[in-house]
Amino acid sequence: MSNYDKQYINGEWVASTGTGSLDVINSATEEVVTSVPAGTADDVDKAVAAAKAAFDTWSTTPIDIRAKYLRDIGAALAGRYDEIVDVISTEVGSPKAFAQMVQAGLSLGEWESFATLVENYEWEETIGNSLVVREPIGVVGAITPWNYPLYLIICKVTPALAAGCTVVLKPSEITPLNAYLLTEVLDEVGLPAGVFNMVVGTGPEVGARISSHPDVDMVSFTGSGGSGAEVQKAAAPTAKRVGLELGGKSANVVLDDAEPSSVAMSAVFGCMINSGQTCSALTRLLVPESRKDEYIDAVVAEASQIRLVDPKADEPDLFHSLGPLVSKAQQERVRNYINKGIEEGATLLLGGPEQPEDQEKGYYVKPTVFADVTSDMTIAQEEIFGPVLSIITYSDDDDAVAIANDSVYGLAGAVQSSDQERAVAVARRIRTGQVDVMGGAFNTAAPFGGYKQSGNTRERGRWGLEEFLETKSIQLPG
Ligand code: NAD
Repeated sequence: MSNYDKQYINGEWVASTGTGSLDVINSATEEVVTSVPAGTADDVDKAVAAAKAAFDTWSTTPIDIRAKYLRDIGAALAGRYDEIVDVISTEVGSPKAFAQMVQAGLSLGEWESFATLVENYEWEETIGNSLVVREPIGVVGAITPWNYPLYLIICKVTPALAAGCTVVLKPSEITPLNAYLLTEVLDEVGLPAGVFNMVVGTGPEVGARISSHPDVDMVSFTGSGGSGAEVQKAAAPTAKRVGLELGGKSANVVLDDAEPSSVAMSAVFGCMINSGQTCSALTRLLVPESRKDEYIDAVVAEASQIRLVDPKADEPDLFHSLGPLVSKAQQERVRNYINKGIEEGATLLLGGPEQPEDQEKGYYVKPTVFADVTSDMTIAQEEIFGPVLSIITYSDDDDAVAIANDSVYGLAGAVQSSDQERAVAVARRIRTGQVDVMGGAFNTAAPFGGYKQSGNTRERGRWGLEEFLETKSIQLPG
């Protein structure tokens, strides 16, 4: 029997105190899959009370026991790999191969990583006559988005539990089914009651109450800047810590010595990964004016190979297969941006705002490439969150860096070149939390987070653990 009509509070599946419900939609068929409760502030209050009551015991549970729980969770989750893939390809629309490798694949490794990390972490040090100790911050409210739904939940829940915190999770109401699956696993491994709680519902109701609740010590939020600002406002009176992982408008800087054929695939995939619904997507491609035609031709040829696919189909080429966007609202938003690009004078080289001819149903958007984009255009400044690449030209390296940094965001970036030293020198000048040089691969152990309006914290690895720690100085007698 499914738990989709329940909340998970104090170690039990319970009915919501409210009567509202929220539909979960299959983004390829546009059909309702099921519905989940529209949780209430009362549900949150109950979950927070449970998390607060569980904190003393969990935070003092020996680290090897906490680490064992993490490993048990990782093993149990791995046993449900096929279900994770199925659920995420349904609610997000990720093609099967992408859901397997990225959505499910990334979600499994963190449990062992954080178990090992806490076992080896230096929890205290002596500074003069002080013993400086790191302690769990307390009750953590985790609020998460829909684009990499399970992995982004795990980037919060795993280190928070590892640190000794207790958790109230509010997953995205658009993609809650993967969170139910995770919660079933946490329940099955016998995590003590109240250590982990889940309240499903909308941001303005459930998310807002988590943010303002006086007994929540920290909110860890991933999502849009607008919602992040609401979280900060609601959290301000209680001075709780707020960790924000927000949006981006990242630049992929192609230096004039880069080989066009080697640039094209990473330029297109780096932008259109997960149908462009990736916070760190490289949505601005900066090419030198002197060689722009070569790069543009290579990129358009590469993007032309992309096919829009049924997420359930066996399409092994994950670099050239895109699924639908997550929702009707997201599809409309992206189409509006494409129209805006055309209106503001960018040259549409590929794609466009219409429903794709080969996919009459589903929230698909054609892979779209614009050239002659200038940095002041809306499509160069705002996060589109769809498969839309904006190509901008620059005059020299200084100009490229200036354009790359001409953004309110500062999440990610990339530099392409045939000279690593030159590329790293440019990477150092880009004001973002991460930069991939010459195809450098995503590293789950390296810190991830944004400068400027892309956020104020770092997740993953040691930094992701320290996000959930307080620091205490105990002065010892001389
Ligand atoms: P969103 O802001 O609409 O929603 C994110 C979460 O916040 C959801 O759970 C939502 O219900 C909740 N929420 C909404 N209003 C709230 C409020 N007033 N108070 C508390 N919670 C509230 O974002 P989304 O559309 O789900 O996700 C897309 C956005 O997330 C993009 O901007 C993307 O760049 C960003 N994102 C950032 C990262 C990162 O690591 N930096 C990763 C993934 C996504």
